[in-house]
Amino acid sequence: MNADIDPGNVPARPRAQGEVPFYREKGQAIPRSVEGLFRKLKWWASGLLLAWWYLGPFLRWDRGPDAPGQAILVDMAGRRAYFFDIEIWPQEVYYVTGLLLVAAISLFLMSALAGRIWCGFLCWQTVYTDLFQNIERWVIGDRTARIALGRAPMSAGKAAKLTVVVGSWFVISASTGMAATLWFGDAFQQLRDMLTFQADGASYLFTLIIGGFCFLLAGFARERVCVYMCPYSRFQSAMLDEHSLVVSYEGWRGEPRAPAPTDRNFAGRGHCVDCKMCVQSCPTGVDIRWGNQLACIGCGLCIDACDQVMEKFGLPKGLISYDSSANLQAREKRVTVPGFRPIRPRTLIYGGLLGIVAAVMLTSLLTRPTTGVNILHERTPLFVQMSDGSIRNGYVYKVLNMIREDRAYSLRAEGLPGLSLELIGGTGPAQELELSVDKDSVGSFRLFVSAPESAMPGKSATITFILTEKGKAGASIRHDTLFAGPGR
Ligand code: SF4
Ligand code: SF4
Repeated sequence: MNADIDPGNVPARPRAQGEVPFYREKGQAIPRSVEGLFRKLKWWASGLLLAWWYLGPFLRWDRGPDAPGQAILVDMAGRRAYFFDIEIWPQEVYYVTGLLLVAAISLFLMSALAGRIWCGFLCWQTVYTDLFQNIERWVIGDRTARIALGRAPMSAGKAAKLTVVVGSWFVISASTGMAATLWFGDAFQQLRDMLTFQADGASYLFTLIIGGFCFLLAGFARERVCVYMCPYSRFQSAMLDEHSLVVSYEGWRGEPRAPAPTDRNFAGRGHCVDCKMCVQSCPTGVDIRWGNQLACIGCGLCIDACDQVMEKFGLPKGLISYDSSANLQAREKRVTVPGFRPIRPRTLIYGGLLGIVAAVMLTSLLTRPTTGVNILHERTPLFVQMSDGSIRNGYVYKVLNMIREDRAYSLRAEGLPGLSLELIGGTGPAQELELSVDKDSVGSFRLFVSAPESAMPGKSATITFILTEKGKAGASIRHDTLFAGPGR
């Protein structure tokens, strides 16, 4: 809603041939609406993503009576993350790293195959900017009406329209921020609490931050985020090759451009009628006829716009198309067009890496143990020499019972002759300790391990804790740790 509007997106100064403008010289892009395949794809992609964002937290999943029933949940208070049947503990945060790795490699693969398909269809900045621009369109009108309103002096009618537009952005942004909090608690309860002002302060702060960014970035910053702020646009060209699909203008066919001939005779001239429909429908204000540019997010709306023009003049569609530079060059040279080649060294590497990381994660998830152990050797003091000469070390031994069943374990230690264990606050020293851990919880045990001084080979030795679940003798968990002494 910038009042300083550039009506034509026309470069303000003459350029040398082949010179590409870095950015529009003034104003904000006010895109014209278009119909076509890419517009439909954008509606579908946005619809599915927004439905997932707002409705996803309300998906239910039965994990039994003592577990949360939300299918996807990041339970900060309970220190767990749930994804349907998968439950991730804080100690398993490496799965999040794996997930980020999968996301990054998928992005590389996507780019190698189809250019900036992420930016044009799936990125949140694109989705919300598109939504906000469409709200302007529904309330004020298409491009011409919005430009006219921007230039018109303030009046009651203009104020009313702007209020409806900005108010709608505000409601959507607030809902977006609120939806973000629903992923972190029971969605139904959280929504009730938020709407009745009974939620905690952190929820409102989170809503303010997410909603505020949505309002400012999609409402006002818009294409500037893609052009100036997003790092992805800077390095995505490194993932492309001559077979990647990108939005391109077929200059050899379009040039020399000239206004539409009244007799529809295109002999001796290019097919571009210089109508600028492609430029005016571009959400980032790009003139794709200058060639591939950093600001082009690959949304394909200029293709829809140009195809309509080509259709009108009875010319073949595809003057602007989603195609590889190899295909474009082949067409220009009138040699065999190689077609889309998804299988290439680059995509094989990305696909292979993706497969390896996904397989490692899946195997690790399917075979992960249901008991975890954490050992902390007490350092103050590192050891104590008892009056009978024996050496005693203190440990905090934590057992993670990762299933919803109470479990009993036995713990022993080996590595030095004459080792004994003693639970602090329990019965006296023993060769083996009995440990009970409640379902889905961490049992924390402080214990002493003692050994005769004569057993120590030097200042320190390695001992092994062996934890065995009762009734499952075959599946023991062994952990080596340090046992310290005074040395001889
Ligand atoms: S829409 Fe097509 S014909 Fe019109 S200016 Fe763009 S490239 Fe040329
Ligand atoms: S140039 Fe075409 S594909 Fe690129 S951002 Fe503009 S409309 Fe989308």
